[in-house]
Amino acid sequence: MNSDTELLYTRCELCPRRCGVNRYEKRGYCGEYAAPRAAKACLHMWEEPCLSGTGGSGALFFSGCSLKCIYCQNHSISWAGKGKDITVRRMSEIFLELQEKGAHNIDLITATHFVPHVIRAADAVKDRLHIPIVFNCGGYERTETIEMMRGTVSVFLPDVKYFSDELAIKYSNAPDYFPTALKAVEKMIDTVGKPVFGENGLIKSGVIVRHMVLPSHRKDSDRLLREIAHLKDDILLSLMSQYTPFYRAAEHKELSRRLSTYEYEKVRETALSLGFKGYSQERTSAKEEYTPEFDMEGI
Ligand code: SF4
Repeated sequence: MNSDTELLYTRCELCPRRCGVNRYEKRGYCGEYAAPRAAKACLHMWEEPCLSGTGGSGALFFSGCSLKCIYCQNHSISWAGKGKDITVRRMSEIFLELQEKGAHNIDLITATHFVPHVIRAADAVKDRLHIPIVFNCGGYERTETIEMMRGTVSVFLPDVKYFSDELAIKYSNAPDYFPTALKAVEKMIDTVGKPVFGENGLIKSGVIVRHMVLPSHRKDSDRLLREIAHLKDDILLSLMSQYTPFYRAAEHKELSRRLSTYEYEKVRETALSLGFKGYSQERTSAKEEYTPEFDMEGI
């Protein structure tokens, strides 16, 4: 392992948690040692149309998470850490295998805590990998870590989850979530520029901001959209309605139901009135069967 890469795990500050732990000896808040682990690699047909296209997005689901929301649909890997060790070499092979299967891109799902390894894996196959790399994350990112990905990642796909600090602390234990995510999105735009599409309608580079409307909190969504409206010409917005009360959501009465059509439509109206371009989601997407089984397929 290259010594610069090693150093980044020796006193880990890859995400805003800034645990400062030596991940060769100890797990950080993300729950992971330095060795990368993943739980599934597959063609994903349910990402945004410019990512999934007809062939699918080449999803690689990493184990652990630096954010850990209490309603996480992937809690078996993010909280419980299900997964299998993969070497950097194996990660490179997985990228090529997904490309071989027809993936339109490599969709790195929750890879913040393994960024130095991901860069090395991508670097090792850069002459053979001809599809864009997508960094699909929770939005709670450090600008320094985003900068490391300049030249490797072409598409950033961050969530921006909450405007209110109260909600961010209650549901994700993430103080300063919104200012941190806003700075991260601005840095992502600086890194990859405005969205660029190929003739086939698939995205080649750019930033797609996802926002999932939560039940009982449409006003927070409204405020959040107004606070990021100045970025509307630099990003695509993907407004999601798929919230399902997974994991510990039932501990909070306001989160223990699905989103109503009224709540979603009100937020969608705001997004349209502010001039965002991008995607909204059919209400039928709020189905548990779209949640992947983490069966180590493709790992
Ligand atoms: S990546 Fe993990 S260990 Fe590193 S700062 Fe974030 S939570 Fe802590």
